[in-house]
Amino acid sequence: MTAPLLTLAQILNRLTLTARWTLRDHQPGPDGRCPICRIADCAVATAARDLLTALRQTRWTGGAGTTRSGGR
Ligand SMILES: [Zn+2]
Repeated sequence: MTAPLLTLAQILNRLTLTARWTLRDHQPGPDGRCPICRIADCAVATAARDLLTALRQTRWTGGAGTTRSGGR
């Protein structure tokens, strides 16, 4: 990627994607603990969730990020 200038929508779209990946990685296991941080109340997952909520509420992305299919 050599494009130094991104539109606001592109930046927000990447933020959304990153937050989703982070949230998936830090998804609490059956015991309620984050498998990566190994604690019950994972701050990373909370931050990612807050970010996703904020992005969704503002609708800055203009409906982008409809890809719900996760890899893996
Ligand atoms: Zn975590």
